[in-house]
Amino acid sequence: MLFSEFSDLCKRLEKTSGRLDTIAILAEGIASLSDDDLPHFCRLILGKPFPEWSGKKLGIGPNLLYEAVAYVTGRKREEVIDRLSRVGDAGAAVEDLLSQKSQTSFFTVELTLTDVMAALVEISGMEGSRSQKEKIRVIQRILSSASPLEGHYITTILLEDFRIGVGEGNLRDAIAQALAVDPSLVEYANQVRNDMGEVSVLARKGEDALRSVRLIPFHPVRMMLARQGTISGVLEEGDPVAVEYKYDGARFQFHKQNGICRMYSRRLEEVTAAMPDVVALLDNALLDDVIVDGEVIAVQEGHPMPFQTVLRRFRRKHNVAKAADAITLIPNLFDILYYNQEMLIDLPFQERREMLTKVASQYVTPQLVSDDETEIEAYYHRALDAGHEGVMLKIQRSRYTPGVRGKDWVKIKPEADTLDLVVTGAEWGEGKRAHVFGSFLLSVRSNEKLVPLSRVATGFSDEQLSWLFTTLQDDIIRKNGKMVFFEPRLVFEIGYSEIQKSPNYEGGYALRFPRFIEVREDKDLKEANTAEDVEERYIQTHRPLQTP
Ligand code: ATP
Repeated sequence: MLFSEFSDLCKRLEKTSGRLDTIAILAEGIASLSDDDLPHFCRLILGKPFPEWSGKKLGIGPNLLYEAVAYVTGRKREEVIDRLSRVGDAGAAVEDLLSQKSQTSFFTVELTLTDVMAALVEISGMEGSRSQKEKIRVIQRILSSASPLEGHYITTILLEDFRIGVGEGNLRDAIAQALAVDPSLVEYANQVRNDMGEVSVLARKGEDALRSVRLIPFHPVRMMLARQGTISGVLEEGDPVAVEYKYDGARFQFHKQNGICRMYSRRLEEVTAAMPDVVALLDNALLDDVIVDGEVIAVQEGHPMPFQTVLRRFRRKHNVAKAADAITLIPNLFDILYYNQEMLIDLPFQERREMLTKVASQYVTPQLVSDDETEIEAYYHRALDAGHEGVMLKIQRSRYTPGVRGKDWVKIKPEADTLDLVVTGAEWGEGKRAHVFGSFLLSVRSNEKLVPLSRVATGFSDEQLSWLFTTLQDDIIRKNGKMVFFEPRLVFEIGYSEIQKSPNYEGGYALRFPRFIEVREDKDLKEANTAEDVEERYIQTHRPLQTP
């Protein structure tokens, strides 16, 4: 596929709002692809050239890109930045700049999808002190053969800001339509392989290929997630449920094969090197050839410590041994996905749990199985008294559904009024906060876009504000008076007293008394709350009272 064809398709998709039309355009594109292009297309159209578990990263900040764009368009860097701040989005600004470049230099070579992918692979492999310069050179090379529209999409792919309104759901249905397979099998295969590229190749082989996908050690799958709920609501189903403490730590997936161990965070980043103590504990406790799921907590004098303590360890690159001495980390295992060459995710939770107790000699999360509300409530209070977050109720006959926040896992905890919001802008502070950002603009996800919902200015310590100021510098893409706007990257957990209707924000809602709770570094953007979540909560709390 020519990259110009890919870009035209992206443009058509951006202009299309209906789900069915989006799927039809995608399906038409997919049907025409060669076997080689198919996986690249499916990854790029989601804006993710590499599967999230691959560990491959582009690592291109806006500044690096501006330098390459300045070179290719024969302008000064300042001019590029100036254009960007006027146009507002980097893709459109680069398109604009390229369209003013003399026409003669275009189309000397026609870029293909494979060329662009090869350049991205090359960039992702660059490390070390010279890597910045080398990356710039590769970007210059592809941008100089790019048309303005191609430049637009290359830019957003490079900045990991490619949003054309295609989510995994649409792509799943388009693959199913184009290749005449059942969409639920495409979904299933993607839960197991966590890579639409690979799944599309299987889909082209047929339904049997999709059905027979298997987990592979060191190829992590997304974590199964929980919904908020009530004990009585879960018991209404009629069966006894499994009840476990909800630990306030950091989620992990642990893989072991032939004595080699690797640990992954909730975002599927490998954290093995940062967690030698936990890895050693688990290596000793587990039989070989296994994938397990759990939560690691930090403990001091027998009491759990805040989960930020654990996350800080996940990120640590230096002095790991010293950090390991300072706090004790304890893994808690609550699920098993794979053992002895066999994938277990389709077994009922009850059977997986039995298997887990056989495979792990230690660290298996204690469990109560009960259908008695009073007994479960007592267990919940015991969890809170011991310093945990609450309890998780798990349906015993449920399968393990990677990446799904379904009804099979229900969390019960005291405080519910928080939202995870994406930080999209900030405003300079005043008075003693004049040298840092004093308030932040927060957005929710809405159909692959980000829509502002609130600002937050309270709940921050001075240390947090100065850390945020430093860490957000590289993400600034636009300035406007006292406001700056960011390439979205961070997620804040925000408490609030009420959701109100408001004309001040595009989405029609705003938060009353928003306060910062913490940076959710364990969450990536797609885990932030959506406009639908906000609407649902608004409706729930503003339902007219029922008269008996
Ligand atoms: P929260 O902000 O409430 O932690 P979350 O969005 O991070 O929610 P949820 O899916 O709502 O995550 O809750 C499940 C999380 O709880 C898991 O990701 C895991 O990190 C944690 N957890 C702690 N104990 C357990 C347990 N026994 N079983 C499953 N998950 C657990």
